[in-house]
Amino acid sequence: MTTSTPVLADIHCHLSFPEFDADREQVIERLREAGVGLLIDPGTCAESSRRSIGLAGRYDFIYANVGLHPSEVTAPPTPEMYEELETLARSEKVVGIGEIGLDYHWPDHHPEAQQEAFREMLRMATRLDLPVVIHCRDAWPDMLRILGEKRSSALRGAMHCFSGDIEMAQRSIELGLKLSIPGIVTYKKSNLPEVVQAVGLNDLLSETDAPYLAPVPKRGKRNEPAFVAHTVRKIADLRPESFEKVAEALLQNARKLFAIA
Ligand SMILES: [Zn+2]
Ligand SMILES: [Zn+2]
Repeated sequence: MTTSTPVLADIHCHLSFPEFDADREQVIERLREAGVGLLIDPGTCAESSRRSIGLAGRYDFIYANVGLHPSEVTAPPTPEMYEELETLARSEKVVGIGEIGLDYHWPDHHPEAQQEAFREMLRMATRLDLPVVIHCRDAWPDMLRILGEKRSSALRGAMHCFSGDIEMAQRSIELGLKLSIPGIVTYKKSNLPEVVQAVGLNDLLSETDAPYLAPVPKRGKRNEPAFVAHTVRKIADLRPESFEKVAEALLQNARKLFAIA
């Protein structure tokens, strides 16, 4: 990596997932070569959050989020589970609460339990004064309603893997959230290019959501953090600012939101 290579941020990458167990060291070598200098590994349950924290403890540029993914919520979580998550969230290098949210995509989802868990995790983020990282799939009306209830107590965070339209983008920004742009922005049928052009540079973040959703030209393969370079390049192509300026802004937006020095 030369000194002129911009430093890239991947604010949502499941590097601690088993998909990377066989070659995590090589994946980390490649992300370093690609210029990734900040990576946040989110939790999806207590066990997964513990693995995220463990990974973050081994690398100075990796940070963790502690979360409860809506797809993990099949029944209302117990008070003990919330206590465990809150204890984990007080660990060193935990910079946010996520992922949390609503996911109505699969036929057997549990909307009431998901909503209860989401509200509880939002309250936890407020208590700990941490930003939230929100997952929302096929659940926009309920999402906006719940975030609206929360509004009085200054929400801050990211809509991760944002894939909504311009109106959803603007509503999210009004609520205090940044839009984290995944590799989907490089797909032919995506409406993300017009979103990226319609909002301010300060409203954007970059992520891979690896191992899922690899950007073009890696689409269909296992995604990995090095590929965030394709996403940042695409965002810069869509914006009036230079690649260097866009990459720097995406990094600083991440640092500011997650209070990373
Ligand atoms: Zn997600
Ligand atoms: Zn994710």
